[in-house]
Amino acid sequence: MTKKKSLTKVQLAKMESMLQERQARLFGGGRVRKPVDDSERGGDEADIASMAQDSEMELDTRVRESRELQLIEQALARISDGSYGNCEECHEAIAVARLEALPFAQYCIDCQEKMDEQGVPTDRYEVPNLD
Ligand SMILES: [Zn+2]
Repeated sequence: MTKKKSLTKVQLAKMESMLQERQARLFGGGRVRKPVDDSERGGDEADIASMAQDSEMELDTRVRESRELQLIEQALARISDGSYGNCEECHEAIAVARLEALPFAQYCIDCQEKMDEQGVPTDRYEVPNLD
């Protein structure tokens, strides 16, 4: 058994459905999941006002979710073009366990760690600095 090996078709299909499920949840869930106080939410104006009053954490969640959606879309595109599962930096296969934990991972753990050290925002859950 080689240490690093690319995904089997079954694993690839599993990743694809995980990504699609997550994507569907983010698309559908973003609006459905309400902030704590629902009574303030009436029409559009109230909605905008309450959005403005949302805690920073809520805003962080939105930013993170839209970032995640982007990564999911990219991952699905890589599945279509056959490049999924390979590190975009060193082109080695990404460990399957890592993909199972983070199906939209773009980098292998080694490259990810290197980039973390350099402070490059990647596919971590932390919100990248948008400035
Ligand atoms: Zn790598």
